[in-house]
Amino acid sequence: MKKKLIISLMINVFILFFCQIPCSAQERELKNRIIVIDPGHGGLDNGAVEYGYKEDEINLSISEKLKKKLEAKGATVYLTRDGDYDMTERNHHYSKQDDMYLRVKKIDSFQAHYLISIHQNASGSQQAWGSQVFYYYNSEKGKLLADSVDQALKTVTNSRKPISGCGFRVLRATKTLGILIECGFLSNYNECGQLRSKNYQNQLCDQITKGLIDYDSAVQKAEKKELEKKYLQSFLTKYEFY
Ligand SMILES: [Zn+2]
Repeated sequence: MKKKLIISLMINVFILFFCQIPCSAQERELKNRIIVIDPGHGGLDNGAVEYGYKEDEINLSISEKLKKKLEAKGATVYLTRDGDYDMTERNHHYSKQDDMYLRVKKIDSFQAHYLISIHQNASGSQQAWGSQVFYYYNSEKGKLLADSVDQALKTVTNSRKPISGCGFRVLRATKTLGILIECGFLSNYNECGQLRSKNYQNQLCDQITKGLIDYDSAVQKAEKKELEKKYLQSFLTKYEFY
């Protein structure tokens, strides 16, 4: 009897280990994942404006491309805005506080697995350049996600800026696991040109997608391993193999 049980256990473990990996790899990597993209600013709040180019417009353009790429991988994707407006949508008496309050509420209302907030940087120094990925300083998962996206993103931006823990409200006040990406500096003339280029924007989005998938698949593998361990343990306990 015990021999039969052991054989059945082996088969189950075999299925868990060796079948599910190739089966799921064939599926789209972000199937069943919900992602919120937050194109920073909008409406009366343009964010950084450099050489006549507005951050909120570039944020939206990148976010729309990212949405398509994530959807192509099977994710359900929401944008906090899909046009030139801030969250109050009242178009007068802009209030950063109201905008952020509503933005945070909107983000969490989707009950998403991930949040990606898209921004462009600016500095008083025209020399400053490079992408940078931020996470909420108190979030270990946020840090790992930021690191994964940063590794991928740097293959395009060549940035030397490290990931950084921060207290930005969009990450601090939301329950959704998230990162904020400063894709580059609009105040740097060359980088501003790159950031406006559709081709460069697509490359950025490909890498953000890759970084997110890398993190997500690592988490899934770790969760599966944990599940297998529990399964094995409960089996051994149940049949008193200890
Ligand atoms: Zn911004």
